[in-house]
Amino acid sequence: MKEILVAGGGIGGLAAALALALKGRRVRVLEKAPEFGEIGYGIQMGPNVAKMLERLGVREAIEGHAFFPDALIFADALDNSELTRIAVGKFFRERYGYRYFVVHRRDLHGEILKACRARPEIALETSRGVAAFREEKGAVLVSCEGGQEYEGTALVGADGLRSAVRQAVVSDGAPRVAGHYVYRGVVPMEDIADRSRADAMTIWGGPDLHLVQYRLQGGAVMNNVATIVSRRFRAGGKDAGAPDELEETFARAHPHVREMLKYVSRERNWVLHDREPATNWTQGRVTLLGDAAHPTLQYLAQGAQMAIEDAVVLADRVAEAGEGFEAAFLAYQAARMNRTARVVLTSRFFGEVLHVDGGARALRNDYCRKRDPLGYAEFDRLYRGI
Ligand SMILES: Cc1cc2nc3c(=O)[nH]c(=O)nc-3n(C[C@H](O)[C@H](O)[C@H](O)COP(=O)(O)OP(=O)(O)OC[C@H]3O[C@@H](n4cnc5c(N)ncnc54)[C@H](O)[C@@H]3O)c2cc1C
Repeated sequence: MKEILVAGGGIGGLAAALALALKGRRVRVLEKAPEFGEIGYGIQMGPNVAKMLERLGVREAIEGHAFFPDALIFADALDNSELTRIAVGKFFRERYGYRYFVVHRRDLHGEILKACRARPEIALETSRGVAAFREEKGAVLVSCEGGQEYEGTALVGADGLRSAVRQAVVSDGAPRVAGHYVYRGVVPMEDIADRSRADAMTIWGGPDLHLVQYRLQGGAVMNNVATIVSRRFRAGGKDAGAPDELEETFARAHPHVREMLKYVSRERNWVLHDREPATNWTQGRVTLLGDAAHPTLQYLAQGAQMAIEDAVVLADRVAEAGEGFEAAFLAYQAARMNRTARVVLTSRFFGEVLHVDGGARALRNDYCRKRDPLGYAEFDRLYRGI
């Protein structure tokens, strides 16, 4: 049986390799970077993905590195008042079957990588940037940037936001730049001055800004993420999202919120992107997965979770269809398209709600204050999963 080729060894590509291997398929992962790895910050994982990690046989290992917040708190960044919370304790677990957890990206990626390395069906190669592919006589021929060539029975493009595979399949150019700039920092718990909400995942929303805090590595360190919606970007000006704009935008925030800015590093920032949901991401024996298929803003914290869900669904459809890859990939995308489009569009909406000012802020705060912390209506569809 010929191998399935996977372009990209991020969370999505490795999860796909593992899911396919568990169905008895041989897989070769071609990763562009010289090493497999992830950046050193946190990631949130809802019960929908815990169910998928269970199916991949890695949930317990990943949860071994996790921190389990007792609530997801939303607070106003201007006055530091709590607006609402989602209780993620016993009732949440009974409803969704799994706990909400947060984990270091390296630990999540590292455990999936370890599981891949333990499977004889999976070959892992680095320094293999997929540059082009063509279909020929029931096979996909892939060429890499270094000139290496591979023949597979199918190709899964899990090569992220700027996917080369997507450009051949969807041809929709560069992703949309949202103009939201993210600064991050992980610091030991003893450096955190105010630990009053340290057992929760807390998000403070304010005009054109928000800040997220949660603990990682079993609670030993605090992950801090500050985001601004850049006015300079909107005005088409220079230095959009630069550290001085971070300070400027947070100047109106409550002193407690401003104080927390010292935990984020100014050395690097990330500008957020997404894409309009596509109506097709499959071409014959080639399909896309994760950010290559449906990159999203971070506001539902679901990008990686969608990639892992994709992986499990993809492997299920491939197992059902045998060698009928086109049918399997079309069935996979049909199963995934609306769910992932909903995440992309709801994330944009949540981003807007988070960053409002004036009367819209008053309306948001009133709505949130009246919300039942045990009412999960907004999240039920997402967290019940697939
Ligand atoms: C600030 C922020 C916070 C976030 N928080 C969360 C969260 O809490 N929860 C959550 O679920 N998601 C979150 N996300 C989203 C999540 O990080 C992404 O959705 C997820 O990492 C996508 O995984 P992926 O494997 O599809 O893509 P990537 O992680 O981008 O992996 C793609 C891989 O492909 C490789 N590659 C690129 N081009 C090629 C090529 N031509 N050939 C071969 N290999 C190639 C890359 O080197 C990389 O290893 C967040 C994102 C941001 C920006």
